[in-house]
Amino acid sequence: MDNPLMFYSTNLEAPKITFREALLKGQAPDKGLYLPVMIPTITQEEIDSFTDKPYYQIAFEVARKFLVGQIPDDDLLHLVRDAYDYDVPLEPVYERKYILRLDQGPTASFKDFAARMMGRLMQYYLNREKRSLLILTATSGDTGSAVASAFYGLDNIRVVILFPESEVTDRQRKQMTTLGKNVTVLALKAKFDDCQALVKQAFADPDLNALNLSSANSINIGRLVPQIVYYFYAYAKLRKKGAIDPPVISVPSGNFGDMMGGVLACKMGLPVKKFVIAVNENDEFPIYLQTGDYRKVEPSRNCISSAMNVGHPSNLARLVALYRGVMDEQGIIHKQADLELMRKELFAVSISDVKTRETIRKAWETHRLLLEPHGAVGWAGLMKYLASDPTSDQPGQLCISLETAHPAKFPQEINTILQVDPELPPSLKGLEGKTEYAEPLANDYAGFKSFLLGIF
Ligand SMILES: *Cc1c(COP(=O)(O)O)cnc(C)c1O
Repeated sequence: MDNPLMFYSTNLEAPKITFREALLKGQAPDKGLYLPVMIPTITQEEIDSFTDKPYYQIAFEVARKFLVGQIPDDDLLHLVRDAYDYDVPLEPVYERKYILRLDQGPTASFKDFAARMMGRLMQYYLNREKRSLLILTATSGDTGSAVASAFYGLDNIRVVILFPESEVTDRQRKQMTTLGKNVTVLALKAKFDDCQALVKQAFADPDLNALNLSSANSINIGRLVPQIVYYFYAYAKLRKKGAIDPPVISVPSGNFGDMMGGVLACKMGLPVKKFVIAVNENDEFPIYLQTGDYRKVEPSRNCISSAMNVGHPSNLARLVALYRGVMDEQGIIHKQADLELMRKELFAVSISDVKTRETIRKAWETHRLLLEPHGAVGWAGLMKYLASDPTSDQPGQLCISLETAHPAKFPQEINTILQVDPELPPSLKGLEGKTEYAEPLANDYAGFKSFLLGIF
């Protein structure tokens, strides 16, 4: 087999390792995030060949560049075919503006794309090595359900999910708690930050080493690679319609995993005119891009696009690294990024809740475009960008804005604004009658630890 692509840690103090190792480890021992030492390229010919390929085949072509020598082609093809058995619609809105709907997976959020491939890759390696793993994850909603669904029924993997009882919607909770089998869900009367603190403490506890803990959150490189694919796929669909110019792409962002997928796609060779990074009122990144001065928003601000309430994006260290800077896990900059290049390639914008609601209403009234709060932040960011740059505010400018969740996941908000009830996708139907399996857990590490030790 070919020499594998190696991955380094953004804190630069951990040994380089292979994709398999980085996937099973999650975070690097120096608390940095793994990135490939060299970004593989996709040639123009390959991009052209994508126009007639189904989604899973593009996923195969992109992933194998990162997985050289790490998995035979046949196995990888089988795996992505199994993971991507749903539609990825690119919906025209007006002129050459499109919405890429990433909400057709089993839990109706874009997190399915990453979780399904990551789960299958982990299982592939664990089965061959006859090992098992305990995935531990704290969630404020979408990650938990995507991970629970993606890992449900897989051999050799136990999943334990912690969630703050009062911070997730009924639908989000039922997506996690109605599974059972290898998925254990713990409900806490606490905040998301408390859940995350318990999980972090467990990872740092040597008494739990034998459990083989791993994380499934967006710091895992195994989640990033699958998120490169849909950018190539969307462009391939536009090429098929005859487009040859680079699009503006807007990404509603929280922890910046989705956006990192896009920026990596671009560095691999995808033509992009500009990335719009649209955040909610957690505006630490737009301020950093403008001033070069980075300050976390602490505590993070609560907005209606709840999956993006992030005051310090965990993937920011990766973005800084791609622009030749060094930022540690605390957000301290040890070497400044090439801000000039960043500003040339990226446009960052913060969208208020007022603007988000107005965007949901206007998009519906003007274009019959149904958006939920996250997608609305992306769309509003795109409109702000077009208005800010007179050279790009052309009717002809090709644009793609990402919709990261299905509107039916946010029925109250949408009904209040539009008096419309979004129709449930098949994946969300039938949750009502199902039995829920959730166990209460006190917000206390000793209790959590003995629970974990008692699982096996
Ligand atoms: C997680 C999530 C986001 C934010 O994605 P990041 O990769 O964390 O930036 C946006 N929208 C929805 C619906 C999400 O679940």
